[in-house]
Amino acid sequence: MASDRPSDTADEVRSAIRPTLERFGPDYWREQDAKKTFPTEFFETIGGAGYFGTFIPEAHGGADAGPVIASVLVEEVNRAGGDAACVNAQMAICRTLVLHGTDEQKARYLPGVASGAIRFLTVAATEPDSGANMTELASTARRDGDDWVINAQKVLISFAQETRLMILLARAEQGTTLFLLDLDQVGDKVERHPIDLVANRMTATLFIDELRLPDSTRLGPAGEGLACLMKGFAIRRVLAASEAIGNARFLLDRSVEYAKTRETNDRLIGEHQGIQYPLVQAYSKVEAADLMRWDALGLIERGEEANARSALAKVLASEAAWETTRAALTTFGGWGLAGDYHVERKLRESTVYVFNNLLMNLIADRVLGLPTG
Ligand SMILES: Cc1cc2nc3c(=O)[nH]c(=O)nc-3n(C[C@H](O)[C@H](O)[C@H](O)COP(=O)(O)OP(=O)(O)OC[C@H]3O[C@@H](n4cnc5c(N)ncnc54)[C@H](O)[C@@H]3O)c2cc1C
Repeated sequence: MASDRPSDTADEVRSAIRPTLERFGPDYWREQDAKKTFPTEFFETIGGAGYFGTFIPEAHGGADAGPVIASVLVEEVNRAGGDAACVNAQMAICRTLVLHGTDEQKARYLPGVASGAIRFLTVAATEPDSGANMTELASTARRDGDDWVINAQKVLISFAQETRLMILLARAEQGTTLFLLDLDQVGDKVERHPIDLVANRMTATLFIDELRLPDSTRLGPAGEGLACLMKGFAIRRVLAASEAIGNARFLLDRSVEYAKTRETNDRLIGEHQGIQYPLVQAYSKVEAADLMRWDALGLIERGEEANARSALAKVLASEAAWETTRAALTTFGGWGLAGDYHVERKLRESTVYVFNNLLMNLIADRVLGLPTG
């Protein structure tokens, strides 16, 4: 029902991945969600198919295949009823290492990240008192001889218990600085406390007390951590938009099917305009958001500036997915809240995309030129 943008690459990825995704249908994901487990078998399958090397150069074991493949992949995972968060993270977070790592760091880790043998799922930025403002970190990196000494508290950190590599942001004398933590080596010094969250993101609070790290763990120049990290933001926004579009299409497909087959009082519920209109409105918004997604992808592929476009794509797609969950609830009635139908899980998963205030700040400032406080 939902149209796919005609693109040879996109079509090839959809055809290639759909048979694999059929092995990991909605019931697989329902079980992971209920048990709050990491989808290990799924993750290893996607790694085995080579997708984790999408942004990694061939010289380091990747495929260097580009953002369209990544975008379509995460959309398809969610459209099949899954949760692509770990795939998105494994593909995209390593771009900071690709762009700013030393030759030694890249040689040591990238081939394993590309195959999925090394999980690289986490950026630890958010703090209790700084929220989204990464310029005013309380976590510190103090120089001591050739080493750094880290003291940090981070909150809401995804996959903190599941990842091996983690990018940690801390404030050094020179400014925000990135460190590449290998938790196989320093995991016992990174205290992790799980946070019970609405979606299965294995989120945690981290405490780090006087962790001594060699300078070889610094990622990119001291003081330029934020600039290094921000180079990945446009792609990460488009991938978040793609995940939201996948969620919305999963719900639309199921809702339309249900509206065509569910009869009450000898009438199909899909005959009612009260069911049709919310679905039509949700569908039109998803299609519009999808066009913005492809527009942003085009800019990224051509190496053009994509900050505002990617922000618009993320805002529109997450809002469209949110509206779609409402339409799905209207369609399924009370059964929409029953786990068997997968609507309530998608409703919970859709909440994680709706925090858009800082993106709207970006659009207000850079696109509309509104005064900033
Ligand atoms: C599912 C999930 C996974 C996450 N994973 C990670 C992770 O892996 N790593 C990580 O570092 N962080 C992660 N986070 C944290 C996320 O980045 C923060 O929630 C976000 O940065 C906001 O911080 P906060 O929640 O403390 O909200 P606050 O900063 O307290 O903000 C509260 C509200 O005020 C709004 N607000 C704040 N400042 C402004 C402003 N200037 N203008 C307009 N509105 C404003 C915010 O948008 C928000 O709606 C995750 C969060 C969630 C929900």
